[in-house]
Amino acid sequence: MREVMTVTGPVPSQELGFCQCHEHIALSKGWSYKVNPALCIDDRSKSLEELRRYRSFGGNTLIEAQPCGCNRMASELLELSEESGVYIIASTGFHKLLFYPGDHWIHRTPAQELLELFVRELEEGMYEDGDLAFPSRQCCARAGIIKTAYDTEELSPRYQELFRAAALAAIRTDRVIMIHVEQGTDPRRLLDYLTNLGVRPRRLMFCHMDRACRDIAVHKDILRSGAYLEFDTIGRFKYHSDEQEIAIFRELMEAGYQGQLLYSLDTTRERLRAYQPSAVGLDYILTTFNPLLRDSGIPEEIIQMISVVNPAKLLC
Ligand SMILES: [Zn+2]
Repeated sequence: MREVMTVTGPVPSQELGFCQCHEHIALSKGWSYKVNPALCIDDRSKSLEELRRYRSFGGNTLIEAQPCGCNRMASELLELSEESGVYIIASTGFHKLLFYPGDHWIHRTPAQELLELFVRELEEGMYEDGDLAFPSRQCCARAGIIKTAYDTEELSPRYQELFRAAALAAIRTDRVIMIHVEQGTDPRRLLDYLTNLGVRPRRLMFCHMDRACRDIAVHKDILRSGAYLEFDTIGRFKYHSDEQEIAIFRELMEAGYQGQLLYSLDTTRERLRAYQPSAVGLDYILTTFNPLLRDSGIPEEIIQMISVVNPAKLLC
């Protein structure tokens, strides 16, 4: 099996173990915080506490979904991984453009330069700076995945350029593209755009469709291509209950797509117990949601598939 790039180096995919595929565990206080105060996760000891608790309940790996230039904390991710023993797969790529100030380099850097930047982060090391000026200070920890965001502008000229850079970086490095899907968009258009550029669907992970897209027929259209869906509206009761979440999983499993489903929590400061004592915490799937899946009659082997087998298959 192929190795997967984590912040501490390559890891054989069969060693990844239990993996939540879209998390946030370190975020510096910057523009993201201005947009949403829950997007600041900058207390090292609290983030470490969350990771250690995750590890103690069987969490082995997670994908950190914050890209370059957007309050990512690259070298802190390396330290947190080393100290907690949790493998962290970090992101290069781009987020929704509202998460960057108006004069940020992400708005004007040509696709070719972005492509080279993403590839350097995947093959050499992530940049520690870049929230303001174009990044220049690289560290030794490498990104392992390409984060992208499909916003309500869908494929506007600028987003086309950003997605083209991500697609070409994914093809050149044979890495996975993670896609934030926003409510009110049609992700099938993006699937077509990326596959026309040459990206294989099995290298794509569409995130948040459990809250962004109510039409299960759209989920099935994406799954039919071979792409993966990552669900994380778990323990997020302002959207729906865990029972409703399980009903979405169940419908797609009954259609035979259990080999392409992934899950996570998409944490923010307000959803991490070390920061907010009443919050669910990074261990919520292990301690609460998996037991709910079992009680609802989902077989253990399917839970193992979603949490261990599918992440390894996607990433390798
Ligand atoms: Zn996220």
